[in-house]
Amino acid sequence: MDLREYIRSIPDFPKPGILFRDITPLLSNPDAFGYAIDEFKRTFAPTRPTAILAAESRGFLFGAPLALALGAAFIPVRKPGKLPYKTRKFSYDLEYGSDSLEIHVDAVGQGSRVLLIDDLLATGGTIEACAKLAQEAGAEAVGCGFVVELSFLDGRKKLGNYPIKSLITYD
Ligand code: IMP
Repeated sequence: MDLREYIRSIPDFPKPGILFRDITPLLSNPDAFGYAIDEFKRTFAPTRPTAILAAESRGFLFGAPLALALGAAFIPVRKPGKLPYKTRKFSYDLEYGSDSLEIHVDAVGQGSRVLLIDDLLATGGTIEACAKLAQEAGAEAVGCGFVVELSFLDGRKKLGNYPIKSLITYD
């Protein structure tokens, strides 16, 4: 199946000059959505993840069904102030300013094998923050999966030496 057919490209969203890759057509087609989750499952089952970490909000859409399919915990990574229990925070630089992400302190730890999932890899800042949150908690990152990768932004450079799988790549 060619998943590219289920990505809609929207020029100048959310700002002029940005070509936004919209995954909602993929989500609305159960065959395509199921195929994407199966592909991640087939690729990452051998890495034996115990937890899937995914950042709000579009990462949840793929991370949660994959966690169920792999029999792993689903761990939400959220913007500051959203998680109700004690949290661990990681801050990272953006082009202008900075941003932070949080996980619950007891979400992962020593012995956790963490798979990082997001809808899209652009500069890599978001997924790098997720990897750092896991590693600072003592967990091991075992892989990274994306539905879409914008390879011209070189986000992979920020990632570690573990399997990285993108279902669709735009050069
Ligand atoms: P990065 O941190 O620069 O790699 O940006 C990746 C994050 O931004 C992901 O969590 C995406 O959800 C979001 N993102 C950036 N560009 C797009 C896009 O074209 N379509 C959908 N999400 C995007």
